[in-house]
Order: sequence, then structure tokens, then C-alpha cells
Amino acid sequence: MNFSELGLCQELSQAVADLGYTEPTPIQEKSIPYVLMGRDILGSAQTGTGKTASFTLPMIEILAAGRAKARLPRSLILAPTRELAAQVADSFEKFSTYHKLSMALLIGGVSFADQNAALSKGVDVLIATPGRLLDHFERGKVLLTDVKILVIDEADRMLDMGFIPDVERIVGLLPPLRQTLFFSATLSDDIKKLSDKFVSNPKVIEVAPPASTADTVAQHLVWTSPKGKREALRGLLRSEDVKNAVIFCNRKRDISTLVTSLKRHDFGAVALHGDMTQSARLDALQKFKDGEVPLMIASDVAARGLDIAGLSHVFNFDVPGNAEDYVHRIGRTGRAGKSGRAFTIAASEDDKKYVGAIEKLIGKPIPLAGDARSEAPQDASEAKPASRSKKKKAGSRRTEADSPESGKTESGRKDASKTESASRNESGSRNESGGNDDNRSRGGRSRRKQENAPGELPAPPECKGDTLQDTGHVPAFLLRS
Ligand code: ADP
Ligand code: MG
Repeated sequence: MNFSELGLCQELSQAVADLGYTEPTPIQEKSIPYVLMGRDILGSAQTGTGKTASFTLPMIEILAAGRAKARLPRSLILAPTRELAAQVADSFEKFSTYHKLSMALLIGGVSFADQNAALSKGVDVLIATPGRLLDHFERGKVLLTDVKILVIDEADRMLDMGFIPDVERIVGLLPPLRQTLFFSATLSDDIKKLSDKFVSNPKVIEVAPPASTADTVAQHLVWTSPKGKREALRGLLRSEDVKNAVIFCNRKRDISTLVTSLKRHDFGAVALHGDMTQSARLDALQKFKDGEVPLMIASDVAARGLDIAGLSHVFNFDVPGNAEDYVHRIGRTGRAGKSGRAFTIAASEDDKKYVGAIEKLIGKPIPLAGDARSEAPQDASEAKPASRSKKKKAGSRRTEADSPESGKTESGRKDASKTESASRNESGSRNESGGNDDNRSRGGRSRRKQENAPGELPAPPECKGDTLQDTGHVPAFLLRS
């Protein structure tokens, strides 16, 4: 199967060939013909499998006939974050190399002037975040009455509580007779129901069961104590062959603390979260993409859609309280057929619940790090659950002298984040950094022996199963009341 067999013109086939695409991905193969037919689509496929081209390529084909009028865009793509909108705009430009189509990117945090200038010339494609689009609308700079195609990328995120009022308002400004395309890696039945008022007789295209994680990502779970998380992370950063990694935190305020801590331990890191200025966000992402810094510590603002070439690892420094966010976070790696590795550091009673919810959503357990089923580690010394390998190493390195099972975990556990969506998580009350593991490692007395701490359950060497429930390997601190 090649792109022209899907009904795309020679110029588009050439544009994708220039990018090195030799054949369409499954979601592209299944959705492009229906988009060309003018059907509404509810499309889901795993992260990193080419959903952007699934809607952009046929849109270009459709828009190639016709001309844009001033302030009356002919199509609209909505995305939840500025970075993703910018990335989609970038893809659109690449795919439309051989077409004369115009595009405007309307995102917040940058000046209105250039965006206005583009709108006044007339655009075929408007790519926007909802807030900035509505700002332009309110200033009378754009009319949406000529929009014939609406795309909602990361559709489930766009229909959640934070975005839905803006999306509803925008859709209310569009003509009812239009084509509407929804795409996401996670499209639950609830979201499909919710989308009913935006789409008409949609073709539902599911490449894999919704919310499937990409097969290309090897997933691992690491248990430690709340105060042992940074040390566990550093251990992973040292033992894994990390080329570049996104490290997700649930709360914005923990990000700068973690960046500082990592830098103190000689790791290069930048922050990316929604409280930064747009220029700082762009700067951080660019440095990271250019390989100037290997680690980006991010909030869920980076969880959706971002395509960072060859990202080797994703670390969840916090287990996301929203199971869908897990799928998207780890989906920053293992894209376009490449393999990637994801580690989730779990530490509290709440984390146990969150992990359970994630495993339910993805329909499989997340293997404990080191379990053979979490896929073959290159080096057997890496093949140990963090809690065990930590004990083995204890005493051999000063920073690992204080093992995580010290029982000082209650406070961290009690105010752990609530089960809310990513952005809501960021206002959570827990401050993990209150327990400074770095300080503890300096002054702390080490537990140098390899035995279990009093009250700790041994991890049976012959343990079978992948989940906490299967293995019964529940860290003791989770069992203490
Ligand atoms: P998704 O939206 O499904 O998460 P993207 O559209 O961001 O995925 O695409 C992921 C990566 O795969 C991008 O780097 C993109 O250039 C690449 N890609 C997309 N389609 C193809 C294809 N047919 N062949 C090769 N690479 C592709
Ligand atoms: Mg995408």
C-alpha cells in the first residue's frame, strides 16, 4: 500500500516520500480514504502512529481546490497545548510543500500582531489553541463561518472539563454543515458519547483497543518510598542507557525542585510547565529537542502529542492520577516504530490506587522493573526491582546509604495528590520535596545490611506475576497503618 493508492495526489505522495515515509501507518491507511469521502471520523490509534498525517494529508487534498478569503479560514485544527499546535503547524508546512496553501498558528503567550496579519491575508488552515482563538474572535479578527473542516486533535483532552466550554463555544461559531474529525490515542465510550453533539454519523476507526499503549514502549514499575523517589530516579538514570528523557511530575512546583536536585547531581535538565513564559517554554523545548540538555522535567503540558525525535526514555516521577495521562506520557517515547522505555516510580498508598486504575485502563499489568516480562534488560545487574537492587548497593555508595523503606513515609502518603486530571493535579497539596533525600543521604546513618528492615516483607525471589497483587510483594510501608 502506498499513499497514492489511498487517493492522495502525486504532490502529497512526494511530500511524504521526502520525509522518508515509505508506506502509510494503519491509522493513515484506514482513515485517509474516509476523510477524502467527506465523512466525520472518530479515530483512535496508539501514540506515535501517525495520527497527524491521517487528518492533515487528506485536508490538504480537499483544500487544494478553492481559495481562502480574508479573516475567513476554511478549516480549523484545535489542539490542547501551544507546543502541540506549533508542532501540527510544522507538520502541515512539511506536508504542503508542493501546495500553495496558507496557514496561521494562533497560540497564546506570543504577540497578536503576526497572527492578525496572517488572518487578514486569509488562511486555508487555522491551527489554534482554544483560548487564543476565542481572543481573536472577540477582537473581531476572525470569523469561523467558512470553516468546512474541523479537526480536534487529542479529542478526549479537549472534551474534558477544562476545555469543553471553550470548545463548545468555538463549535457553536462554525457552520453546522461541515466535516468533523476527532483523533486521540484514548477515546473512551464516554468521550464518544460526548462527541455526539459535534459529529454526525461518524466513521469510528480504531486501530487498537482504545487506550492501548504503544507496543514499542517497554514499561516498568518501580516501588520506593515517597522520600526515596529522587534517589530511585537517579539510580535509573545511571543504570539505564538514557539518551534523552522526559520526566513527568504531577505538580508544577515540584518541577523546579527536581531540576535543581538533578543539576546538583550533575544531570543536565530543563523544566517545561504551564507557569513559565512562552519564550521560556519554547527555549526549554528547543534546547531539549536539539540535544543540548538530556532531561526535560515536565508537567502534563508535555504529555500530549509532542513528537521528540528518538526520545529514549520517559520517567513518571509521580504516578499520574489520571490513567489516560499515563498512556500519553509514556507515548512520548517509542514513536514511529522506534522502541522506547518507560519507568513509573510509585511510592504511596494513593499510587497503588493510581497504578491499579492505569492497569485497568491499559488492560495489562505494568511489570515491575527487572521482571523478565518487562522485556530483556541488556545487563543482568539491571534486572532487579529497585527496592532490591538498592539494598544490594547500599553501603557501596554514599548517596544510596539511606534506603527508602525507613518508615518516614506517612506524611508523603497522606497528602499525596488527588485523583484528578493532569492540570488539576498540579494544584495538589503534597510537597514531596519536603523530605530532602539529598540531605538525608549526606547526614543519614546508613542501613548497610542487605536484610529487610523490620516489618518489611521480603520480595520472594521466585515471585510470580507482574502486579503488586499478583506477586504479593507489597512494600512494608504501604502496609503500616
Ligand atoms: P500520533 O499523533 O499518532 O501520536 P504523529 O502524527 O505525531 O503520531 O507521528 C509520530 C511520528 O511518526 C512522527 O515523527 C511522524 O513524522 C512519523 N510518521 C508518521 N507517519 C509516518 C509514516 N507513514 N511513515 C513513517 N513515519 C511516519
Ligand atoms: Mg498526535
